[in-house]
Amino acid sequence: MKIYDVAIIGAGAAGLMAAAGMNASNLSVLILEQNSQPAIKVKISGGGRCNFTNLNITADNYISNNKHFVKSSLAGFTANDFINLVKKHNIAYHEKTLGQLFCDKSSSQIIQMLLDESCNAELLLNCVVNDVSKSENFTIETSLGCFTAKKLIIASGGLSIPKLGVSDLAYKIAKKFDINIINTSPGLVPLLYNKTKGLEELAGISIDANVAYKKQNFRENILFTHKGLSGPAILQISSYLENFNQKKIMMNLLPNIEINIDDFLDNNISVMLKKYLPNRFIDNWFKVNFQDQKIINCKRKNLEQILQQLNNFEVEITNSEGFDKAEVTKGGIDTNELSSQNMEAKKVKNLFFIGESVDVTGWLGGYNFQWAWSSGMAVASYINKKA
Ligand SMILES: Cc1cc2nc3c(=O)[nH]c(=O)nc-3n(C[C@H](O)[C@H](O)[C@H](O)COP(=O)(O)OP(=O)(O)OC[C@H]3O[C@@H](n4cnc5c(N)ncnc54)[C@H](O)[C@@H]3O)c2cc1C
Repeated sequence: MKIYDVAIIGAGAAGLMAAAGMNASNLSVLILEQNSQPAIKVKISGGGRCNFTNLNITADNYISNNKHFVKSSLAGFTANDFINLVKKHNIAYHEKTLGQLFCDKSSSQIIQMLLDESCNAELLLNCVVNDVSKSENFTIETSLGCFTAKKLIIASGGLSIPKLGVSDLAYKIAKKFDINIINTSPGLVPLLYNKTKGLEELAGISIDANVAYKKQNFRENILFTHKGLSGPAILQISSYLENFNQKKIMMNLLPNIEINIDDFLDNNISVMLKKYLPNRFIDNWFKVNFQDQKIINCKRKNLEQILQQLNNFEVEITNSEGFDKAEVTKGGIDTNELSSQNMEAKKVKNLFFIGESVDVTGWLGGYNFQWAWSSGMAVASYINKKA
């Protein structure tokens, strides 16, 4: 039976990048992918245009039990390194907002780029990996038979969006080798909230807001949905909630807006507020909160109270929409178990974990793909040097 130098489980963002990093070597590399096509999450990402990286990446944009862990990989293969690759393949791109880079045309271009860059690896699709064992080499049991490799890279991702074909294989393998796992939970996920405030009729309304939980805050849009709350600011803050039960988040619905109270006095307050917030929000909110009060021609005290409420709009979170709707998985392989230089498991020589399987969760905005590229390249560089 052929013994491969390297086997990679998962032809997603991280797995393909690791293979690309070893393309110029003479190593025999095998990629095993359960889906019928590679990198399905790259394909659907960024609304089909793939937000492939961000211009403002630092370790502060990542959540992990060890916040320094990402530094070495991110410095070894930076956003600029990925941008240079994109330029080399003549893929047109643009900055949308907040440093987020998207393809002008289609995320398929990024997939084709990764496949071209990793063309010397053997890619087996429709190949479900069921188990892994180690003696001198790794034996990988799959739906297409057994494979053997000297080095094994686990790039099988996390648990988010099961319908795209995900698995808990990384965690199963970690357990088998006595490698600790940080509890997993949905990240970048829409939230459900206690609607006692009568906010049921707000579905579809989007507001530029500052959303805060403890010391973390994000200034981006929030979106009221039929089920609860979504939009970039909500997805971002969701990753910072320790759990989704009875957590209170604070939303400033008039961020950085200086309101001159004198302009409002003796005017219809709801009409005035509609200059700053969507009509439907004001109508519904007033209906619920001020039904019995005559607030037309408001007085200074009333207005101060109302503005105070809009600046400190507290919402009690009751749950999240779960892995079905989460963009990423929080938690995963404990970073204390891995080398931050090359992602090798400290307890198991020649076994590596990269990408979303690891306890590293990026912000919304290209940070998660950059982690996939950087961690994939960290392993590849290390293996190349050893070859
Ligand atoms: C809807 C959506 C949009 C997103 N948009 C963005 C974005 O624009 N920018 C950004 O930075 N991030 C985005 N993300 C997050 C990003 O997709 C992930 O962080 C990234 O794909 C993780 O890369 P990975 O290679 O670790 O895992 P994945 O890309 O999930 O790849 C894992 C691969 O392993 C395969 N696999 C799993 N188990 C097995 C098994 N047992 N046998 C064989 N193969 C297996 C899977 O089929 C998959 O192909 C988005 C996520 C979602 C869900």
